[in-house]
Parts: sequence; structure tokens; C-alpha cells
Amino acid sequence: MKYLIVGSGLFGAVFAHKAAEHGNKVIVIEKRDHIAGNIYTKEIDGIQVHMYGAHIFHTSNKKVWDYVHQFADFNRYTNSPVANYKGHMYNLPFNMNTFSEMWGVRTPQEAMAKINEQRQEMAGKEPKNLEEQAISLIGRDIYEKLIKGYTEKQWGRKCTELPAFIIKRLPVRLIYDNNYFNDDYQGIPIGGYTKMVEKMLDDPNITVKLNTDFFDKKDEYLKNYDKIVYTGMIDKFFDYKLGELEYRSLHFETEEKNVDNYQGNAVINYTEAKVPYTRIIEHKHFEFGKGDKGKTIITREYPADWHRGDEPYYPVNNKRNNNLYAKYAELAQKQAKVIFGGRLGQYKYYNMDQVIEAAFDVVTKELR
Ligand code: FAD
Ligand code: UDP
Repeated sequence: MKYLIVGSGLFGAVFAHKAAEHGNKVIVIEKRDHIAGNIYTKEIDGIQVHMYGAHIFHTSNKKVWDYVHQFADFNRYTNSPVANYKGHMYNLPFNMNTFSEMWGVRTPQEAMAKINEQRQEMAGKEPKNLEEQAISLIGRDIYEKLIKGYTEKQWGRKCTELPAFIIKRLPVRLIYDNNYFNDDYQGIPIGGYTKMVEKMLDDPNITVKLNTDFFDKKDEYLKNYDKIVYTGMIDKFFDYKLGELEYRSLHFETEEKNVDNYQGNAVINYTEAKVPYTRIIEHKHFEFGKGDKGKTIITREYPADWHRGDEPYYPVNNKRNNNLYAKYAELAQKQAKVIFGGRLGQYKYYNMDQVIEAAFDVVTKELR
């Protein structure tokens, strides 16, 4: 069996690794000049720089956690971002530290009383959009200061026009715990994500070709390979014939600063609408003091509208797009030779662990 894998991101790499392990010949083509997709990290000044935004690995799936440990050791990094709203600093996710900073409350009972008072305006109403969902979850003060500006920048539209599910990802806790995630396992691969993916692809049955775009020779590839695993945009595969799916793009501005410690935390979110970026990442804090003395690398992350040719970082999973995706998925079903996978091939807001799970599912069916 000869597999062509389009894209060397996590989905493609897991599939390639498993298929090769089963004795199959695998060719991975990648249009960028490096492997690892959006989890690509590059060493600068002795620090692993997350070139496409901060990536923290977290999962409750022991199978996934054990799987990635074949390729890397993980450090004990625990994501605990801080929000800057007009110069005031608030701990995230929403927990007793945040409530105490916001309202001066000290106990869970005091916090709950305040939250319940704030939620009153949504009492008895079913939240129909993100704004209503946020207010019914946490109340107006936190919505206005920590959610509204950030979310409207991130998604380029009003919170009243966004689906409620986006905000359901954010945990609300009545303990003094700044751990952003609820998962059982969390960390960052020591030595960077690129090294981890390199190991996944390190098999005599796997050949990787960089700077190679599937669309330059689509018909030839479809003719010559037994099976294709495609992890690019599903609408592009079909030449957008049913219409364009929407994506959000990002623009990253990376800068070297001549200080040891620029902001004191790996991730600081800027939740005010007026600041054009959503967050600043200081990469060395993912690695506990690693990196050259007197130097640090920071990245500002600017959300951007997506137009053809831009990097499609986030699928926009609203009703219109999900309906259109369902029609593309029907076309995909008819492509017996092609498996569509990953954030772009399945048009799903997957985290890394979910991408790995999705690849396991496909691999199990394919290689049985
Ligand atoms: P990708 O990584 O996008 O890989 C697809 C690959 O296919 C790319 O390398 C692309 O160049 C290539 N490709 C596309 N089209 C073609 C073509 N025509 N020809 C050849 N190659 C092609 N997840 C977490 O778990 N934790 C986090 O903290 C986290 N933070 C994130 C932060 C940001 C800013 C973003 C955007 C995502 C974040 N994620 C996070 C999600 C994570 O990045 C994804 O789940 C994962 O990287 C998706 O892997 P993938 O293989 O599906 O896609
Ligand atoms: N969010 C917010 N304020 C913040 C951080 C996140 O309102 O300070 C909202 C925002 O709508 C965002 C969603 O929560 O799209 C999910 O955020 P998360 O950081 O989990 O998503 P990521 O961008 O890392 O995929």
C-alpha cells in the first residue's frame, strides 16, 4: 500500500507514523519549508519559539499522553495566562483569584453571591449567542472586561453574532487555581514540538518532501497513489465549488528584547478592544529559565480576516459554515481514495490531543 500524506502537521504525522509502523510506504508532502504544521517550534537564542502561536499540550486521554511520550519528554508547564484590561491584571481562567481581583470577594460563598447577582439579567432565558452565554455563565462585569473585547477581536464580529459554544471552553472555578485547563495531563515537549514530529516521521518507510504543494499536481497524485490522506482545506480540495468556508487568520509579530524577563509570564492576554493584538507570548517562560542571558523573545498575536491565500488558522464553526461543511463532507465520502483529516480537512476546532484521537480513529479503520 502506498500512501500520500498531504501536510506534515500533527494529523499527517500520526497517520504517517502508524502507517509506516504497519509496513506501508508513505510519502509526506508539505507546502511549507518545514514539518510540524502549526505546532512548529524553532530555536532562537536557546529558546524554543512557537512560530504559529502558543501551544500547550493538554489531555485527559491516557492513550494519547502515552503515545506522545514515545517521541518526547514533557516538562511540567501549566498554562496560567494573565489578562491585562486597561492596565489592571486579572488571573485566568475565571477563578477565586479573578473574582477577588474583580470584586474584592474572599470566599467561594461571597463569589457565588456576586456571580448570581450578576447573572440575574439572564434568569430564565436560554442563551442564544456568545454574549448571552457569557453573561449567564459569569455575569456582566467579567464579560465586559475579560471576554467581550478579546472575543470580538479574535473572531472579527460582535459577541451577539457568535455561537455560544466558543465560550463554553473556558472553565469557571471556585478555588484559587490559575490552571487554565481541567485536563489530567499537561506540559510542553522538552526540546520543542518540531523535534517531537521529527521523531514521528523518522522511519525508513517515510519520505518527506518539503516545499511541495498538492495542488501543483493534484490529478497526478490522485492517479498514482493507492490512498491519499489530505489535511489541507476541504473546500479548496473541491475548488470551492459549493462556496467558501470561513476561517480566521492570524498575524504574528516576533521580536527579540534585550532583557531577561519581559512580562513575567508566558501568556498575557489583552482583553481591551482598543489594543490590536489579543496576546503577547514570552516563549522562555514555557521552558523555565532556559535561553541566553539578557535576551528574550516575545510574539504579539494579531487576529486577522481570512482571504484566499492567507493561513487559515481557525475554522469558524457557525451554523452557515457547518452546513456548508456537511455538504463538502458528502462530496468527500464519494472520494474513495481520499481520507480528509485534521483541523482543516475536517473543519473542526480541534486541540492537539483531539487531532491525535481523530487520527487514531482513521488509522484504526484504515489499517485493520
Ligand atoms: P496543521 O498543523 O494546520 O497541519 C496541516 C499541514 O498541511 C500544514 O503544515 C500545511 O502547510 C499543510 N498543507 C495544507 N495544504 C497543503 C497542500 N495543498 N499541500 C501540501 N501541504 C499542505 N492546540 C492545543 O492542544 N493546545 C494549544 O495550546 C493550542 N494553541 C493553538 C494556538 C493557535 C494560535 C492555533 C492556531 C491553534 C492552537 N491549537 C492548540 C490547535 C493546534 O494547532 C491544532 O490542533 C493542530 O496543530 C492541528 O494539526 P493538523 O495536522 O490538523 O493541522
Ligand atoms: N476568551 C476570552 N478572553 C480571554 C481568553 C479567551 O474571552 O482572555 C474567549 C475567546 O472567545 C476565545 C475563547 O475564549 O476565542 C477560547 O479561548 P482559548 O484561549 O481557549 O482558545 P485558543 O485561541 O487558544 O484556541
